[in-house]
Amino acid sequence: MNRRLPVYLLIDCSESMIGQGIDAVRSGLSTMLTSLRRDPHALESVFLSVITYDASAKLICPLTPLIDFQEPQLRLRPGTALGAALEILANRISTEVRKTTHVSKGDYRPLVILLTDGQPSDNWRAALSRIGTQVRPRPANIYAIGCGMDVDFSVLQSITDVVLRMEDMAPESFGKLFVWLTASVCSASIGTGENSDGGINLQKLPDNIQKVETPAESLEGGPLRQVFLRVRCSVKRSPYLMRYRFDPLAGCYQPSFAHQLTEEEVQATTEGELPSIQSQLLNGAPKCPWCGKPGAGHCGNCGTMFCADSSDTEDIICPGCQAVLSRNPDGSGSKGFNLRLSGG
Ligand SMILES: [Zn+2]
Ligand SMILES: [Zn+2]
Repeated sequence: MNRRLPVYLLIDCSESMIGQGIDAVRSGLSTMLTSLRRDPHALESVFLSVITYDASAKLICPLTPLIDFQEPQLRLRPGTALGAALEILANRISTEVRKTTHVSKGDYRPLVILLTDGQPSDNWRAALSRIGTQVRPRPANIYAIGCGMDVDFSVLQSITDVVLRMEDMAPESFGKLFVWLTASVCSASIGTGENSDGGINLQKLPDNIQKVETPAESLEGGPLRQVFLRVRCSVKRSPYLMRYRFDPLAGCYQPSFAHQLTEEEVQATTEGELPSIQSQLLNGAPKCPWCGKPGAGHCGNCGTMFCADSSDTEDIICPGCQAVLSRNPDGSGSKGFNLRLSGG
């Protein structure tokens, strides 16, 4: 029997991936599968598994031969439970990967591809020690890829030596990333993924990806780099997600984008344990992606946020509880109040 190359994909499906980020991951993955299936060595030896993480982590697909592998459904939810994902990874590696014995050659060292765009929202350190990243020989070759501007690279550096940075999350950038990953998987599938000392043989990186060599500053304990709030359009009642990015100079969050949501995406959300934020920390609101109103208001009755315009002349019906709200789009401009965050 051929030696197997177990490949584990750990994909961040937190809300911050919404928009072109997750679309590009879906299409990159699809292209990668097509290319791998054209490679005879990969076809014989590659086994794929997918673990996604948001508020919790989930094994989407156990280790499966490339030929039988079905493209995973990637759904976004709040939260970045990287620790829970590492926990699942540790369990799967210990149960699925065949060890070399004196009678048979086991699997190649598993290749783990960890994709994230943010900061973990759970305790990842405990899970890390279960994988045994400090153990030699390494239990797995882990590539940790941080996408976008808000990644805590110090976390990734605790997980592996191979930490890569891709700041631009445009579809073409993800395209190049997946081409590179495909080449890395092909190389590992013929046993050339490592040098003679057991170190990782890194394929030549595309121009949009850099290896992070210097120790990164930890973002732990500091303000969240991005926050997300769920809103409903007061005209169409449709849901959307407001994205804010922390502005260290102003000490507050600036609106960066508003993404349309489907009702299905809203239902998939686990609310309740989500943190909240003081309204004064938010500097305005992004434009409603459904009707174009430039601001947002908050129902004191049920807590729903909705799009609003300070020049509105009519009362607003709260899209959450149907209460008739008098016009004060910014929540009366008085003391400020707590807004429930979506998990990011
Ligand atoms: Zn609207
Ligand atoms: Zn309400």
